[in-house]
Amino acid sequence: MRPRALSATLCLALCAGPASPQSGPVVNDSHFHLTNYVQEGTNIHDFLKIMGDKVGRVALFGIPLQQTWSYGNTGDFAPTYYLQTDAPLYYYSFTDAFIAMAYRSLAPAEQARFDPMITGFNPADMYAADHIRRVLLTFPGVFSGIGEFTVHKEFVSAKVAGEKASLTNPALDRLLDFAGEAGLVVILHNDVDLPFPKPGQDPYQAAQLSALLRRHPRTTIIWAHCGLGRIVHPVKDQLGIIDRALSDPALAHVSIDISWDEVAKYLVATPETTRAAADLINRHPDRFVFGTDEVAPTDQKKYLKVYDMYAPLFARLTAEASERVRKGNYERLFDEARRKVRAWEKANVK
Ligand SMILES: [Zn+2]
Repeated sequence: MRPRALSATLCLALCAGPASPQSGPVVNDSHFHLTNYVQEGTNIHDFLKIMGDKVGRVALFGIPLQQTWSYGNTGDFAPTYYLQTDAPLYYYSFTDAFIAMAYRSLAPAEQARFDPMITGFNPADMYAADHIRRVLLTFPGVFSGIGEFTVHKEFVSAKVAGEKASLTNPALDRLLDFAGEAGLVVILHNDVDLPFPKPGQDPYQAAQLSALLRRHPRTTIIWAHCGLGRIVHPVKDQLGIIDRALSDPALAHVSIDISWDEVAKYLVATPETTRAAADLINRHPDRFVFGTDEVAPTDQKKYLKVYDMYAPLFARLTAEASERVRKGNYERLFDEARRKVRAWEKANVK
């Protein structure tokens, strides 16, 4: 072995963390924010280095909501997160141009590792679908989907300036119809319940979400975080509800992402929760996708924190389910989106 080859081998062994029996990436990331709530983040070229050879492909988006720095509310303190101030959030459409230009700054082989997503629209606006269409026409060849966008989210949706989004708003139907027409994958954040529900309180969000999903059978939808959050807990029989939903042919267009460390904390809380989550995923191996939900990470250890948290869950999956959740389902969903969206653009970009 020549010295050069030896050092490359050594580096693979020493630099890539725990040895992996497979060659090639161990995971794709279906849920990643390049920028934060004040539209700042990681340079995409640096992010490629953070992905390294461990992460294959990434669904790439910013954050549609900008945190206002209200001098009247926090004075000289410049908030960078929505929990740091009472000032409102507003929709920041420039995020889509920013993400498109970041993607376009990459070489073709690097671009192939990303699926950029459109997020800079207000889901309470009947014109939201028109914004999405305009982004596709302005940046053809770039986007694979829309989202992560939010309807109901603890702490966040109540802070949005103007009318709040709702699962019953026709504006949402209009944009989901358009996503189906153009072939865009949708990543939708909607909490399964309210924070701190009273005993017996109706989790109306679950019923409204179910109705919404059933109204859009032609649209590929990923339900982010299976509806869980920092304080939004699993509802009673959550795994049973998801099991029945995924067994229902009327919801065959719906997948679930297990992103966010706040979600991993529930799924791998105890050996029992880990086993129950793994059993559910093993029963529906095509329907779950891994994601990090990291925001503007600075190194690979931080970026892959959620992946590492899920080690006990992955260990309980069948080999087939593990491969699909970590990689195969992402590739199936986003390859199909790329094909369909490129075809839509070909027919519509004049
Ligand atoms: Zn997210």
